[in-house]
Amino acid sequence: MVVPAEHALHEAIQVSPLILSDDVKRQKIENRVAKMRFSAAIARKIQDVFISEMNKGIHQQPSSLQMENTYIPELLDGTEEGLYLALDLGGTNFRVLLLELAHGAPIRQEVKRYYIGSELRVGSAIPLFDYLAECVSDFVISQGLQDVELPLGFTFSFPMIQHSLDVGVLVTWTKTFNCPDAVNKDAVRLLREALDRRGDTKVKVLAVLNDTTGTLVQGSTLDHNTAIGLILGTGSNACYLERADRVEHWETERHGEREVIIDIEWGAFGDNGVLDFIKTDFDRENDANSLIVNSFTFEKYIAGKYLGEVVRVILAKLTKERLLFVGDSTSDSLLTPGNLTTDLVSHIEQDSLDGGDSNTKEILGKFGIIPDEDDIRIVQYVCEVASNRAALLVSICLASLLDRIDKEQVTIAVDGSLYKHHPRLEGWMKQYISLLCTPGRKFKLIHAEDGSGKGAALVSAIAQRLKKRLQ
Ligand code: ADP
Ligand code: MG
Repeated sequence: MVVPAEHALHEAIQVSPLILSDDVKRQKIENRVAKMRFSAAIARKIQDVFISEMNKGIHQQPSSLQMENTYIPELLDGTEEGLYLALDLGGTNFRVLLLELAHGAPIRQEVKRYYIGSELRVGSAIPLFDYLAECVSDFVISQGLQDVELPLGFTFSFPMIQHSLDVGVLVTWTKTFNCPDAVNKDAVRLLREALDRRGDTKVKVLAVLNDTTGTLVQGSTLDHNTAIGLILGTGSNACYLERADRVEHWETERHGEREVIIDIEWGAFGDNGVLDFIKTDFDRENDANSLIVNSFTFEKYIAGKYLGEVVRVILAKLTKERLLFVGDSTSDSLLTPGNLTTDLVSHIEQDSLDGGDSNTKEILGKFGIIPDEDDIRIVQYVCEVASNRAALLVSICLASLLDRIDKEQVTIAVDGSLYKHHPRLEGWMKQYISLLCTPGRKFKLIHAEDGSGKGAALVSAIAQRLKKRLQ
């Protein structure tokens, strides 16, 4: 028997029907992408797997979820005052920031972007960290603050193992970085040593974190119910405020902490095979075309770096199977991996929302394709199916987190261009989360811009407060 809640979920996760002039073709296409569409039962199964992986991770059993302790046991308390620095490495831009706080809230911000040349991104770690220190010192001196003792929060958005709030051992480089001699080394130590070699500032590195953690902390200054941080940008990850008594991995001395931020590292969810039941041939190809194969399974279903590629793979397969662009010569450009970026998916989704086709035509035109009416409908349908799957997957995990946190009201702070610009994700997520969590839970999604910058400066303020308390 289908219970009413599952019926509502089933209804909510339907995408717009594909309407084509050729009904046989419509059926073939729907069948071809059917595995991208989840039934309510499959959604629940994914939810069960996520909950089980979270439990294993937090109990230090083998799991695809790292559930890493960030050692941030509390948020801002409104007493933080003064100047704090942040260094943001691992996002699209490398930046140094200065944040002035009064009563625990930012009142002024200065930012400078720096360019890291490709010769520094690969090779030995020493020149890279010397350059990071040079940028910090350039920024601090330009602000006239070289003689002021400044706490710094280091956003290092790479997988690391944290031994304390200011020790983060690099597990592996990702994105465009590869300095092998830094692997298994503490990124904070490398930065401190580089700053010491210069000796021209009084910067104190107090904390290392990733963009997800920064987003939660940044969100908490906008809404004090914030208990989850979510990134939907190039990559995807989430963190949340966990009850301290549930956390086993805790290497530092404990001081009666009641909570702590846990970095889930959910990009790797499914790397151990637990999500294989949803994997499609499109996902296999997306993975094969990626930089590091057989890793970051979950991220490859949802994040900005990959969503466009999922769509492209599907369109390319439909084209090869002569279900799409039949009247047109095959576009080599569309058959090339990486050529359909996620911002284009957003633009096509906007057409679907408006009932229009101008964006879709323009984008396909750039691929050298002149589509007919059916082609446009199919392309829009594929964009919706892939986007909807991403929204549903993220919502499944967020709903599980809300149940785990079990607070009266929880705010989810989100950052990242995918979330910010995709025209439908937010609406779907609101709807799906409420259907997937325990009925009646109150939650809110807010946009917490620049968690990786501001958030890091805020974390350094928290770190300073914790340090003073222990002195
Ligand atoms: P980062 O995650 O590197 O800090 P962003 O949050 O800006 O940076 O995310 C960049 C990602 O967002 C890119 O992978 C890109 O594909 C995606 N993106 C950029 N613009 C859009 C858009 N209009 N719609 C959807 N995704 C977008
Ligand atoms: Mg970012």
